[in-house]
Amino acid sequence: MGWKTLDDMELAGKRVLVRVDINVPVEDGHVTDSTRIDRIVPTVTDILTAGGTPILLAHLGRPKGKPVPEMSLRIVQPALESALGRAVHFIERPSRDAIDALPMDTVVLVENTRFTDMEEKNDPMMAKFLASLGDIYCNDAFSAAHRAHASTEGVAHLLPNCAGRLMAEELAALDAALGNPVRPVVAVVGGAKVSTKLDLLGNLVSKVDHLVIGGGMANTFLAAQGIDVGKSLCEHDLADTARAILQKAKAAGCEIILPRDIVVAREFKAGAASETLSPDACPADAMILDAGPATVAYIETVLSSAKTLIWNGPLGAFEIPPFNAATNAAAAVAATLTKAGKLTSVAGGGDTVAALNAAGAAADFTYISTAGGAFLEWMEGKDLPGVAALNG
Ligand code: ADP
Ligand code: MG
Repeated sequence: MGWKTLDDMELAGKRVLVRVDINVPVEDGHVTDSTRIDRIVPTVTDILTAGGTPILLAHLGRPKGKPVPEMSLRIVQPALESALGRAVHFIERPSRDAIDALPMDTVVLVENTRFTDMEEKNDPMMAKFLASLGDIYCNDAFSAAHRAHASTEGVAHLLPNCAGRLMAEELAALDAALGNPVRPVVAVVGGAKVSTKLDLLGNLVSKVDHLVIGGGMANTFLAAQGIDVGKSLCEHDLADTARAILQKAKAAGCEIILPRDIVVAREFKAGAASETLSPDACPADAMILDAGPATVAYIETVLSSAKTLIWNGPLGAFEIPPFNAATNAAAAVAATLTKAGKLTSVAGGGDTVAALNAAGAAADFTYISTAGGAFLEWMEGKDLPGVAALNG
């Protein structure tokens, strides 16, 4: 952790370039969910309180390197103003002179960084131009840190730099879960496919003490052990890979926990007739859509003696009840243990956050990461360029 925070910087009288993630959903020119905007407020207000000028750099959507009016950050300006409780000065074409002409206590919002293709190419000219606009660079966009772009990586090398409040909070939570965790550590990995999470599984088996494999990807592991999974979602071509992961886990002393019972159905729809069976008893015309109560009971046993949990991916097809049962029950166990101070629990991933919210467990987790791709790459053990570039 070689990075500095806002507390380490002399902010008074300084123009502070802040890379934020306000890539919010927009419908008919209006922001429909301002969660990401709300989360950058602490950084912006702390800079103002310290006497600095926050100059916000951000992207919206995928304009592919040219101006697209529907992706202008002007759209976000009103929502940002209401979250901050103050006016925001929008600049379409920024220059140092224009910024210097503004009062120090102005919040500046610069137009979509992706309106030029120099951003995603991490063009040194763009990094240099951005650096010319400010005195300090602060990265508060963990969710964009897996991309080496001019505003997330290039510019960091050219100015004194630090992590914003949200970035620092996210990094501290992730470090507590996988960097320097209190052991035993349990990872729960579920979701649809092994193929999208190969690097993740490979990294986790050498880092955690227990790895619960659930969801559709568990079927691939069951099949790799010679079990017939009927019509279940299963990547048969990854049988060798699955066996290699099991082998690696064994060598590393990581316990792999596969479903001990399965919930099967003949239809992929809400309320479909289902039955709970032993993992080797899936009928040829049925699909495994969830783990059963015996699996949840064992997960509870493991979590009860663990100190740290990191979770990505639901244990079943949680969108269609009753196949949310195992995910909900395991989430409730984790939430209760966390609330009692016995467990540090960190979760992330688009569907995982939705599933934990639906289970009513998210609020009791220690930390929920809303960074999809960056969270996954970090869990995979990869260096995030936007974080690596923060060296003070
Ligand atoms: P995240 O977005 O949190 O990384 P994923 O996208 O990997 O999670 O996985 C979520 C998806 O996995 C959900 O759409 C869920 O329905 C699906 N899934 C989980 N278990 C099964 C299963 N047994 N069969 C089919 N799909 C499943
Ligand atoms: Mg997903």
